[in-house]
Amino acid sequence: MATESDLTDENLRDLRGSLAGDVLAPGDREYDRARLCFNLLIDRRPAVIARCVSADDVGTALEFGEAQGLEIAVRGGGHNPAGHCAVDDGLVIDLSRMRNVEVDPEARIARSEGGATWLDFDSATQAHRLVTPGGVVGSTGVTGLTLGGGIGHLTAQFGLTCDNLIGAELVTPAEGVVLATEDENPELLWGLRGGGGNFGVGTLIEMRLHPLERVVGGKLSYSGDGVREALRTFLEVDSRAGNELSCQAQLVLDQSQTPGLEVAPCYTGSDGEPEELAALRSAPGLVSDTVREQGFLDQQRIFDPGYGVDRNYWKGHFVRELPDELIERLIERMTLLGRPPGEILIESLRGGPKDVDSDSAALGYRDAAFNVSVMASWTDPAHDEEGIAWARETAAVIEPYSVSGGYANYMQADEPLGRVRAAFGPASFARLQSLKSRYDPDNVLHRNQNIPPA
Ligand SMILES: Cc1cc2nc3c(=O)[nH]c(=O)nc-3n(C[C@H](O)[C@H](O)[C@H](O)COP(=O)(O)OP(=O)(O)OC[C@H]3O[C@@H](n4cnc5c(N)ncnc54)[C@H](O)[C@@H]3O)c2cc1C
Repeated sequence: MATESDLTDENLRDLRGSLAGDVLAPGDREYDRARLCFNLLIDRRPAVIARCVSADDVGTALEFGEAQGLEIAVRGGGHNPAGHCAVDDGLVIDLSRMRNVEVDPEARIARSEGGATWLDFDSATQAHRLVTPGGVVGSTGVTGLTLGGGIGHLTAQFGLTCDNLIGAELVTPAEGVVLATEDENPELLWGLRGGGGNFGVGTLIEMRLHPLERVVGGKLSYSGDGVREALRTFLEVDSRAGNELSCQAQLVLDQSQTPGLEVAPCYTGSDGEPEELAALRSAPGLVSDTVREQGFLDQQRIFDPGYGVDRNYWKGHFVRELPDELIERLIERMTLLGRPPGEILIESLRGGPKDVDSDSAALGYRDAAFNVSVMASWTDPAHDEEGIAWARETAAVIEPYSVSGGYANYMQADEPLGRVRAAFGPASFARLQSLKSRYDPDNVLHRNQNIPPA
């Protein structure tokens, strides 16, 4: 691999001259902003950042990186907790200038450029009162999230985000520009539904849209002795709700260092006061209730963490159930955390994800009831060891209930290959490896939840 010093001014000048977009190198004014990851635990200094504006630019940047022997990273929204969007001394193919989202309201399809964020996407689609089920934080990349699965406020209604992926244009290391649709390269489309950025750089993806304008949503917060019972109520409500209610919950620690619970329902049915919401509202310990009828864009703002503020370490498991003894242990683990922030996120996979033919996508955890993710976050580097240890030890408490590897979109870079394989299952993993062998046989795109070539 080349190092930062191997790249000459002439090399950089050549790249600058051949891209329609721009190129940043150490010392350039926007360089530090462009290398910043959501997760401050990752602090990397690329040799060069190619801010592409077209598929041609992406192809040129890929060729340049390979010719120079540079390690290559792809940057969408910069949210991946593993920091895969940045690489020391290498090349970043940065898609943050490719954020256009075009909507075809008649066909109910959105065409989203590779660097668009959920705020870009939702703003464009909501102008036509349409949605696709996406992530819950506006600055997350649409393509990055979609290729890894996608769980959010509309999962029960419309399935995982990747279930709504119907086409993609990729720039691949081996075959250049490749299209993937149900008719053209359908095996690749299957692989893109969960297989991440392993096969190429997605310059355009096509998403199926659904009519939706208003939801009943917001947040319910519980504290004190009621938390345990409120969590059981959430589980009970989730087990019997219909597809018109998506629900997520998170165990948190409040300022008095006592475990609390936040539940985020998103109801899209026609009942003004659905019984499930009434049950959640009457659970013990309710201290705050912001649930109301609101536009979908407002629902998408209920979690709004700052970019590049916290240091994060996440680890989790898909589980088939959350029995009482596990709830007790999780509450215990929250108490042991000792100081906020930090949470255990419980995302339901009921409804939509299970209505889809499981052979239509590479990802392999549809049988699970919940994705349970331990999300340690802190600001002081002195707490790195402590935060990482808390996340790992808490995930170990969940592991005996695990039904597959973890959720690729939340994985840190230290997850072993076995966990990535388990996230798909052996048969799907072998198919993904064959795709990798075809489109990226030299594993040029390896800064991801990596699927090595067969
Ligand atoms: C605050 C926060 C909120 C989140 N919320 C959710 C959520 O609600 N639901 C959910 O399911 N996940 C969520 N995630 C996880 C998120 O889906 C993944 O981390 C995802 O990888 C982020 O994509 P990105 O483009 O923002 O990240 P980046 O770090 O820019 O990219 C990560 C990797 O994705 C791949 N990638 C990105 N764009 C492209 C592209 N155009 N072509 C090919 N590969 C690409 C590359 O492998 C890249 O290395 C969240 C993460 C954070 C930090």
